[in-house]
Amino acid sequence: MANKTNGKIGVTTENIFPVIKQFLYSDHEIFLRELVANAVDASQKMKALAVSGDFKGELGDLKVSVELDEDKHVLKIIDNGIGMTGEEVDKYINQIAFSSAGEFLSKYKDQAGNIIGHFGLGFYSAFMVSDKVSIESLSWKEGSKAVEWVCDGSPEYTMEESGKSDRGTVITLYLDKDAEEFAARGRIKALLDKYCKFMPVPVIFGKEQEWKDDKYVDTDKDQIINKIEPLWIRKPSELKDEDYMKFYKDLYPGNEDPLFYIHLNVDYPFHLTGILYFPKIKDRMAIDKNKIQLYCDRMFVTDHVDNIVPDFMTLLHGVIDSPDIPLNVSRSYLQSDSNVKKISGYITKKVADRLEEIFKTQRQALESKWDNLKLFIEYGMLSDEKFCDRALNFALFKNTEGKYFSFDEYKKAISDAQTDKDKKLVYLYATDTETQYPFIEEARNKGYDVLLMDCELDPHYVNLLERRLKDSRFARVDSDSADNLIPKEEKSRPTLAEADEKDLSEIFKAVLPKGNDYYVTAENLGENEAPILITQSEFMRRYREMSSMGGGMNFYGEMPDSYNIKVNMQNPLVASIMNDKKSSVNPEEAVPAVEEAPKDATEEQKKVAEEAKKKADDARKVAEDAHKSDLDKFAEGNDILHQITDLALLANGMLKGKALSDFIARSRKVVSDAYLK
Ligand code: ADP
Repeated sequence: MANKTNGKIGVTTENIFPVIKQFLYSDHEIFLRELVANAVDASQKMKALAVSGDFKGELGDLKVSVELDEDKHVLKIIDNGIGMTGEEVDKYINQIAFSSAGEFLSKYKDQAGNIIGHFGLGFYSAFMVSDKVSIESLSWKEGSKAVEWVCDGSPEYTMEESGKSDRGTVITLYLDKDAEEFAARGRIKALLDKYCKFMPVPVIFGKEQEWKDDKYVDTDKDQIINKIEPLWIRKPSELKDEDYMKFYKDLYPGNEDPLFYIHLNVDYPFHLTGILYFPKIKDRMAIDKNKIQLYCDRMFVTDHVDNIVPDFMTLLHGVIDSPDIPLNVSRSYLQSDSNVKKISGYITKKVADRLEEIFKTQRQALESKWDNLKLFIEYGMLSDEKFCDRALNFALFKNTEGKYFSFDEYKKAISDAQTDKDKKLVYLYATDTETQYPFIEEARNKGYDVLLMDCELDPHYVNLLERRLKDSRFARVDSDSADNLIPKEEKSRPTLAEADEKDLSEIFKAVLPKGNDYYVTAENLGENEAPILITQSEFMRRYREMSSMGGGMNFYGEMPDSYNIKVNMQNPLVASIMNDKKSSVNPEEAVPAVEEAPKDATEEQKKVAEEAKKKADDARKVAEDAHKSDLDKFAEGNDILHQITDLALLANGMLKGKALSDFIARSRKVVSDAYLK
């Protein structure tokens, strides 16, 4: 090739360059990964030739250097790999480079929007950012002549002999105006860090710097991008816990230590290696998603693995490396790919295996880390049935005393005391040990155990467990009286006249805080039990909580708070209040009903009857209002009624503001009245 040749690149698509720019617009930066990867490949091939003995010369230090001229906007990728002969440039660059690209584009042209930059365009991705690209190369083959290929972004290129005297390839990019961002050192360094951190041949970008005379200056040491060893490619048996922890720190400087790790390693039916870490998760707001990095043979591809692992797994950190994940296709295609499904299932299974192993062999460690792990496990159980099946074996319960139990252990521990009359096992739980303290105490005094369910997913989790744990029911400690939480036998109910029941409801509603719904019932709770108990129905409360988390059940979320007021008719104070009421409030005045006019009555008669009925209705309304006002007055003036109601409110943490200070003042009065009488 003594003379300069001109030619036209053998592209099947009419003009590939505009297509490259258009299709891969969002991911221009991958050009650097593609070019460095080619240089790394060429170096690896060179090494292989030396190992096999086909190449007997001086190998030198194989490395890839990236050089940037910020002023001239020129970027070079330099390697001392196998290089290319003129024929090879012709064959690999001019002829076939685009046959596969052309095929791809015609196949997916309907889904242009779905195509992401993970379709490696290889060498030609250089044209996404350059208006001129040159290749200078000298092949390792003896007697080869160096060659220079130049192309300015049209399908026309020139090729001529070059003076390059050392083996390898220099790719020179003349960055175009739209790609000025890549003419900055910081940007290139960041891209190399992102994409090339674990490549298998040293990637060098300039020199290490040091602080000298008030500024950073270059040292004479090369700045090597891929200093960290990709730990996942080593055998787990060679590695210690410290190695895994150090690798985590290298990957995520500044992060807190992870709780546990898993080393993934599979050869069949696909290749996949990696290390996943369980980070500390304190609450939903602090979750770091998208921390798993996906590699393809040590080449960074993406940190959006949401199509490759189930959603809850995206809470994990770490790396996954697989040459078998089809990276050059659209995301929607990825989801339906059977390999990807297998990989996702495999990772889920491995994570469950590892957690079960930790449960069996490191129970202490699991307990001490459980609080920071449970959100992940609960999310997994709620979103992935297979994971849930497995997790039932290693998930823990924590009770309000801070003790941990496996599900099996817990079932055994409570089954004697907490089985109700319908043979259902009742799991009692509290969501806050401070505000629900009186109820927790009450339950404990009855010999019950109370779980702590204070995780934000717990309202959903409790529903899930009710479905998965056979013959069980969950009840929050404050959802009923301690007796009624786990009913052991049918209870006798107080017999109360309808009018008395109405009055009872009225007088309590009169002294309860306004703005809520109350459902007052007369109960027999025992002579020595509290006079009244305020509870919230388990069902209503749970659905309100779930809808406030965005569970789609907004109907419940918008309703006012509703409470059950259980009045203990066996309590002497209640009996005495009802007696007082009887003697100081007259029964509601009865207004006799007015008969309707018969069908055959005259118009005149009908009118008279209608008027009489209306009069009676009005009179009844007046009587009702008068009675209500009598009851309200009675309630208002009854210190003991106020007092027992406020005590119940206080036990629920519902006594606030003026009501609280009224209560304190009244308590003083009641106490001194009682003592000084
Ligand atoms: P791919 O790498 O997917 O095969 P590319 O377009 O990136 O596609 O490269 C085409 C071919 O050109 C490569 O397979 C390789 O043979 C050759 N090549 C590219 N870059 C280099 C390089 N730096 N050194 C040696 N050969 C190279």
